[in-house]
Amino acid sequence: MNTYRTIEDVRAALEPRRHGTIGLVPTMGALHAGHLSLIAAARAECSTVVMSLFVNPAQFGAAPDLDAYPRDEAEDLAVAAEAGVDLVFAPTVEEMYPLGFQTWVDVAELGSILEGEYRPGHFRGVATVCLKLFAIVRPDRVYFGQKDAQQVAVLRRMITDLALDLELRDLPTVRDADGLALSSRNGRLSAAERERALALPRALATRDPERARELLDGLEVDYVQVAPFDPPVLAAAIHVGSTRLIDNVPLIHIEPQEAS
Ligand code: AMP
Repeated sequence: MNTYRTIEDVRAALEPRRHGTIGLVPTMGALHAGHLSLIAAARAECSTVVMSLFVNPAQFGAAPDLDAYPRDEAEDLAVAAEAGVDLVFAPTVEEMYPLGFQTWVDVAELGSILEGEYRPGHFRGVATVCLKLFAIVRPDRVYFGQKDAQQVAVLRRMITDLALDLELRDLPTVRDADGLALSSRNGRLSAAERERALALPRALATRDPERARELLDGLEVDYVQVAPFDPPVLAAAIHVGSTRLIDNVPLIHIEPQEAS
């Protein structure tokens, strides 16, 4: 498994692999079993699996959140190699946002509700970096987690609106045994905070916004709402200490689809 830092180098490395299908798994690192489920799906369906590793400043609001984001590239590269990733694209911020950068993708409506309301500019950063990664790697399939259901909805809309020639595959949320959705941010929770955070999956498991709101009573809740995605989900965001957690559950069971 090789790691490439520049657009030019990753494109050159991919050139001889274009006869087969290319799958892209975009990540910000701090890999956990959620990321591994995406890599496993890509490995099963594509001849080449590319993982991007880029903590995208454009999708963070306040600098402290960006600075606190966990980073351990050596560990992530070892985990990715073990999981069967063929090549990693790990660009610098300057490579992705060179001096003079000024082009942004704004998925206007889906990007401004729920998370978009509490994190203005977040989905603009997500959509822009994903479109750029798609343009660099030119994957046949891209893999995302339903843990970030609104991200999936925003990116599906962008792919449709801009007629991008690729397939987005979304995979179920991977949870710890106690129900908490895996997240790179979970490591910041103390034992007591983690106990409080469990109210989030328990509330969502009711699949009932009213009951969920009751179960989250006493916590700092940004929203608990049915989100108009496909499928609709019951989504919530809460703060536990200084950590913000999001989670959702689909409200309609959809059979996983075979890759086309
Ligand atoms: P991140 O590194 O947090 O940007 O996440 C990279 C990808 O992994 C995104 O598509 C996420 O939705 C997905 N992901 C994060 N957490 C989970 C999880 N618990 N289960 C499944 N996918 C996840």
